[in-house]
Amino acid sequence: MSALLEAKEVTRTFWVGRGLFAKKRLLTAVNNLDLSLDKGEVLGLVGESGSGKSTLAKLLLGLLAPNSGSITLAGSDVGAMGRLALARRIQPVFQDPYSSLNPRKPVASIVALPLAVQGVGAAERRKRAVAMLEKVGLAKRHADVYPNELSGGQRQRVAIARALVVEPEIVLLDEPTSALDVSVQSQILNLLLDLRRDLGLTYVFISHNLAVVEHIATRVAVMYLGRIVEMADRETLFRAPRHPYTRALLESVLTPEPGLGVPETGLGLAIPNPLNSPSGCVFHPRCEEAGPRCKAEVPRSLRSPDGFVACHLYDGGVGRAAA
Ligand code: SF4
Ligand code: MG
Repeated sequence: MSALLEAKEVTRTFWVGRGLFAKKRLLTAVNNLDLSLDKGEVLGLVGESGSGKSTLAKLLLGLLAPNSGSITLAGSDVGAMGRLALARRIQPVFQDPYSSLNPRKPVASIVALPLAVQGVGAAERRKRAVAMLEKVGLAKRHADVYPNELSGGQRQRVAIARALVVEPEIVLLDEPTSALDVSVQSQILNLLLDLRRDLGLTYVFISHNLAVVEHIATRVAVMYLGRIVEMADRETLFRAPRHPYTRALLESVLTPEPGLGVPETGLGLAIPNPLNSPSGCVFHPRCEEAGPRCKAEVPRSLRSPDGFVACHLYDGGVGRAAA
């Protein structure tokens, strides 16, 4: 079976540098990345800030083009598909329901906007927007209120309705619950799971929060400095993580150290500046298992039945650098 959404050897770089006369430097936000998504999956994409998750999201949405490599949706190149055609098939939901909804528009017209873009007439738009509001657990009366009259959770329901109103196949959720109270988070996650079941949706779910990903994902990809270092189905990844970075992330969730001023993962060192990516395995400065080979050689991705891992430990060991 061919994948619904597939990224092959995708690299995306940016020139960065502050100020008019600053030396511009090349940042590799996404580095030779492979990813595939089958229909009906919920792929959790986990990583710290700076890991390239949001750049990858924009690439998958066709909002950015890769420097090299390809991204295809059901076999067609995403870049060649055109914004409108693509927007019918893949829709985003972003983190912040406060800034992503136009405060001057009533809810029904916010939800109906993607339909207006697609050229659907006003009466039909209204009908479909109201029906979608009900599907996401809002009432008919919410159609005519403004976003500032709604709670954070209700606003995120509006953002979800807006994404779903064009009946996309894939929804890309970028930290959709991070701005919400914990009690509201689980309501939104359960809503997303119900919608996926009822509407046959496929999700890419981006988060730095492993507990949230464990709740919703069927498969998990762990990102570090622009690469996916491990991918596995949810049970395998949480029960038997293989990559040292995945293990460190899981341990940091289990043993939080509030108030110690440690990085968000609790890993010993801060994530390296992506402008000065370490040689060899990019995780080696933070890795407890690192050996001489790790500084010298980029690890290959070793396939397993449900994913892969990129670490020398599973590919001949960390002991000797290749000549
Ligand atoms: Fe650690 Fe080496 Fe594996 Fe990288 S390749 S994760 S440094 S053991
Ligand atoms: Mg981000």
